[in-house]
Amino acid sequence: MLLRSGDVLDIYVEPFIHSGFRLPNQPYSYYYRSLFSLHNETLSVWIHLLGAFVLIGQIFQHISQLSIHSYSTILCIYIIYNCIGACIMLLCSAQAHLLHSRTLADHLRSFYLDYFGINFYGFTSGIILYKFSHTTEYDNTNETLYYIILSLLSLYSLSIACFCKTFYCRPYPFSHKILQCSGVLVVYLFQIWPVLQNLILSYSKQEITEHEQKALVWHLLQFISFILSGLIFVGRIPERFCPGVFDLCGQSHHAFHLTIFLMAYCQANAVFEDMLSLPSNSIQYNFSKDLFFTLGVLSLQLITVALWFRISRPAIERRYKIHLKE
Ligand SMILES: [Zn+2]
Repeated sequence: MLLRSGDVLDIYVEPFIHSGFRLPNQPYSYYYRSLFSLHNETLSVWIHLLGAFVLIGQIFQHISQLSIHSYSTILCIYIIYNCIGACIMLLCSAQAHLLHSRTLADHLRSFYLDYFGINFYGFTSGIILYKFSHTTEYDNTNETLYYIILSLLSLYSLSIACFCKTFYCRPYPFSHKILQCSGVLVVYLFQIWPVLQNLILSYSKQEITEHEQKALVWHLLQFISFILSGLIFVGRIPERFCPGVFDLCGQSHHAFHLTIFLMAYCQANAVFEDMLSLPSNSIQYNFSKDLFFTLGVLSLQLITVALWFRISRPAIERRYKIHLKE
């Protein structure tokens, strides 16, 4: 049995989606079983679940293409590192869509984990792009400074997302969208800017290798996917024009998930081509430093999420107290 938007709390309802809601307050098994039935979250969950499988398949494909030289082991480690970041993002998003409409506490917990996944990938992707895709020609930033700024921006972006969830009520004003997207946009632009410079200036370059050319095409595709995902997220097309028609299939959030997956897929291909184009003697590796920063950011992001959960839960439960009694 599926409910209509008026039958559930408005915090579980996305604009222009009128039907296909699962029952709230059911055992967890009900939500896991709902993976295999059609409701308004089924496709959102499956697109990211299948996306994670495709990304895992992609690392086997990349590793099998690496020639056996002294750097192949460390390159394999960075390929896997990049895939772990992307899969965490996709799986955190899938669990959010699967469980968010159970209770208010589950809604907050699962969406805060979703925000964590997005911003943790923002960090790991920033590290990978710095290592392999930022040519020194356009990026002379000190490595430690870059890592610190990237860490702070990812924490800022995560906090902004949790802030919006806590202090904005439905129907959200437009400033909510601007604020919510601004954090992710800042993290993305910080890491992609040197790549974009490279992309723009590559037209005037006389000599460009095959791997460099392929890398630039994949970077362009990941950039287009990111921009498209933002436009789709904000635009809510097509359901804006036919509310209720695309609830189960074809709503903008499905396309949004697809473009997010495509961005991660294209980014991994771009970085792989960049790895192949770099002369092995120009690559400097300090994996212990990368691991130290990654574990540090992982811990700080999880603490941020836990703190925001403690702040938001009583506030949101108070807001919905009357509805819950009903
Ligand atoms: Zn989503």
